[in-house]
Amino acid sequence: MLPLKRSSKRSPALLTQAIALLFLQSAGAMAQQVPPKPAEPATIAAQAKLKQTLPFANKQDFDDARYGFIDTLPDALIAGPAASPVPAWNMKPYAFLQKDASPDTVNPSLWRQAQLNSIHGLFKVTDRVYQVRNFDISNMTIIEGDKGLLIIDPLLTKETAAAALALYYKHRPKKPVLNVIYSHSHADHFGGVKAVVDAADVAAGKAQVIAPDGFMEHAVAENIIAGNAMSRRAQYQFGALLPPGEKGQVDTGLGKALSRGSLTLIAPNVLIKQDMEKHVFDGIEIVFNLTPGTEAPSEMNMYFPQFRVLDMAENTSHNMHNLYTIRGAEVRDGNAWARYIDEALGAFGSGSDYLIGQHHWPTRGQDKIADFMKKQRDMYKFIHDQSVRLLNQGYTPNEIAETLQMPESLANEWADRGYYGTLSHNSKAVYQKYLGWYDANPANLNPLPPVEAAKKYVEYMGGADNVIKRAREDFKQGNYRWVATAVNHVVYADPSNKEARELAADALEQMGYQAEAGTWRNAYLFGAYELRNGMPKINAPSSLTADALQALSLDLFFDFLGVRLNAGRAEGKHIVINWQFTDTKQVYVLNLENSALTYTSGKPAAKADTSLALDRPTLNAIMLKQLTFPQAVQTGKIKLGGPPDKLVELFSMLDEFNPMFEIIEPKKTAAK
Ligand SMILES: [Zn+2]
Repeated sequence: MLPLKRSSKRSPALLTQAIALLFLQSAGAMAQQVPPKPAEPATIAAQAKLKQTLPFANKQDFDDARYGFIDTLPDALIAGPAASPVPAWNMKPYAFLQKDASPDTVNPSLWRQAQLNSIHGLFKVTDRVYQVRNFDISNMTIIEGDKGLLIIDPLLTKETAAAALALYYKHRPKKPVLNVIYSHSHADHFGGVKAVVDAADVAAGKAQVIAPDGFMEHAVAENIIAGNAMSRRAQYQFGALLPPGEKGQVDTGLGKALSRGSLTLIAPNVLIKQDMEKHVFDGIEIVFNLTPGTEAPSEMNMYFPQFRVLDMAENTSHNMHNLYTIRGAEVRDGNAWARYIDEALGAFGSGSDYLIGQHHWPTRGQDKIADFMKKQRDMYKFIHDQSVRLLNQGYTPNEIAETLQMPESLANEWADRGYYGTLSHNSKAVYQKYLGWYDANPANLNPLPPVEAAKKYVEYMGGADNVIKRAREDFKQGNYRWVATAVNHVVYADPSNKEARELAADALEQMGYQAEAGTWRNAYLFGAYELRNGMPKINAPSSLTADALQALSLDLFFDFLGVRLNAGRAEGKHIVINWQFTDTKQVYVLNLENSALTYTSGKPAAKADTSLALDRPTLNAIMLKQLTFPQAVQTGKIKLGGPPDKLVELFSMLDEFNPMFEIIEPKKTAAK
């Protein structure tokens, strides 16, 4: 993945999880002011130990990942959007992964997964079923119908999707794409859609876009309200700003990285609403198995009886997935997830010779499919049940995470290793689902905030120099987790303490080198980067695209205005504004009082401070920052039914979120 350029302009992105990151993955090298360090003896020892315990001799996954290979592009190099200085996709920077033996600075199990996620190209799964893999973080599945093609999940961006389809056409008849299926509501499964099908053809009914019920709401909504924080945190999860390398980014666990191209979205015109709905599209029989509330709020498995192919979307994969994603998100239900895998196994297992997913490589053979599905099922069930067992015995999140170990039978399965999710953070997700953030110890009910607490800790521990001295001893002994905790207090008490920052970075770095999860490695190494070099200076991305905005409901728009309201500036104000949308005939009343912004819809308020009439494209243009409110008023795109003062006043109370905020050190500006 290409490292960061200091200021690069990128095209606007969408609103879903993967998206904001795209912007941040930019070109040119993020100047490595302080280079990464080598592995310490404790890290080398930990890697050696792991090599002894896991079944590295089992190479089945490599056979499966290469099976049916037809062709690829050199280095899977795919150009970015016209104005972009960086490719949308490029595997060349990952050539270092071709070395057989893992270096001391990469966990050997993660190294193996990173190698598997480097096997790219067009693959034949079985007659009429093809996949393009590792042209993006996700897979494109192509199924040949009677007259045209059916594509499941057109990748994250238009550029990678176009390249994937072109590679397919190079080897197979150039039939039109008549059907597109979105397996679920995450952007890496729909963002490239405009490269494979034309929006006008979909509108005219010449092509169908098929999705699980609730797709559009979730695709758009999932990351709006807390989107700014998620985007910044995602830099840590995906390591998009870290240069690839033995001491840098190697993988995400789920796939190599996110592509850097243009995100698009076409609303589905066929929604699957009933579980086990059967359809025939262009001669392709499909049974849709809805799995809401699993890996995504809106998701479905697909069974193809003619081809004996089961597509488990992202409900099974060759790693432990996330019940909680460390970029921040609502937690997922491991119990339901296990139940849905079991249901699919019961319904389709004996009728399937090929199990495909929308990430990673297929599994072939009925017995292997059953074994794979059972173990994926039991992995999520184990995490759920054992975490709940321990929380019912009064154990708290850190204690549960420290106690749990996967049973031998799952621990030795490569597909159930924690490359993306981990047993540690997933067990905490289960705690959060049932009991929330509070561990019930009143000492933790209202502790001092980080900076105040850090100052006291450092003072009680004999001052910064003493903490650093003691921490160096622990560092030598490999106690990196404790060093990170202790020295974090010193950094929070005094972020200008260079020695503390360096030691904290060194500890995080060794933890990154040891981490089996790509996500943890990225988080640790990016934390070390920021401690050493400060936050990268990058342009604030827009987190909206025109495609996504069209689907944004007005309720969500007004909800989002509400979370931007700065309560301090709104103190004591009461403002009522009528909004009339002339094209959609919608009427909203926005009401500010008690520093809270509420709204109702349906009929205007009798006593409003002002009213405005506009159409939806005008609102979208303002949100895309193509137009300002005053410009819209001046040009007559917004018609005011009263003096503008109150409207101007209200807009002056809205915060603009800073996309780059401090994480590994105190905030430079106090919350207000
Ligand atoms: Zn995905």
